[in-house]
Amino acid sequence: AAKGGGRGQYRFYSSDLEEGAKLRRLLEEDLRDALDRDELSMYYQPIVKSDTYNVAAFESLIRWEHPERGFVSPEEFIAVAEDLGIINQIGEWALRKACMQAVEWPVDLRVAINVSATQFVQDGFVDQVKSALQASKLKPERLELEITESVFIGDAAQTQKTFLELKELGVRLALDDFGTGYSSLSYLQHAPFDKIKIDQSFVRGATDPDNNNAAIMSAIVGLADALGMETVCEGVETKDELKLVTARGATHIQGYLFSRPIPHEEAIESLSKGDLKYEPRGPERSRSE
Ligand code: C2E
Ligand code: MG
Ligand code: MG
Ligand code: MG
Repeated sequence: AAKGGGRGQYRFYSSDLEEGAKLRRLLEEDLRDALDRDELSMYYQPIVKSDTYNVAAFESLIRWEHPERGFVSPEEFIAVAEDLGIINQIGEWALRKACMQAVEWPVDLRVAINVSATQFVQDGFVDQVKSALQASKLKPERLELEITESVFIGDAAQTQKTFLELKELGVRLALDDFGTGYSSLSYLQHAPFDKIKIDQSFVRGATDPDNNNAAIMSAIVGLADALGMETVCEGVETKDELKLVTARGATHIQGYLFSRPIPHEEAIESLSKGDLKYEPRGPERSRSE
């Protein structure tokens, strides 16, 4: 469209790019200071069992509250942190913070923490995990690390060694955004995952009979089942989607239908009240976004 659109449109496109580059430079400068300025925090989103809707875990999701821009999405700034070479610092902060906060919960729920592939493959990652467990006194079996398929792009032997060392520590491993990344199943031959998270792009539109998502979902659940792994369906927003993913056999569900990510204080508050069972509260049909 930029090519065929004539001069004016090209200029518009180009200034759009410039705008994007400028914004990114600003974010880069500010992100370096975000930790020191205490602008990062953790939100938590429940993962519920699909048979009882009881909460099984909370996933920690990092938030950056920029003084002028408000909340900047991790979708945006994690990639920036990777490029700047500060993902390790931010990732270690996230790991420690979530472990420390999880021990404050009045119920011994599991905490699922996202780990960037760049952080995961670095020397010393296992030591980071050990030290976060020691500092927080969190029981290792309460910690679940969520990694994506992109860790398999790196040195296979090294990655396998890291997996085994983490299992040795007693922490759990989940494969996040399954089906969207590096698309080879051979890595499932040896990787000791406890859980597969089916990416929300498969849930989206799965209730529409004209696409293959429901069939793909069944196949992933069957695969995980055969390998002795749990399955989480991400991004469930409507009751129709809930019905569908439950029928397809997912063991766990996560999505706005049950709860959006909430601040740590709110998570504590709801756990203190004994709110362990969630209700599907979203809209019947249309998606909220
Ligand atoms: P993710 O790990 O796949 O997390 C799920 C994302 O989907 C979260 O976005 C969550 O808020 C959102 N989500 C949950 N339920 C629904 C739903 O029903 N509908 C829709 N539309 N979205 C839903 P968020 O919090 O913006 O995080 C985005 C991504 O950023 C995460 O994807 C993860 O890859 C990354 N991330 C978040 N926190 C961290 C962190 O502490 N460390 C690292 N390395 N990455 C993180
Ligand atoms: Mg995740
Ligand atoms: Mg995901
Ligand atoms: Mg994701």
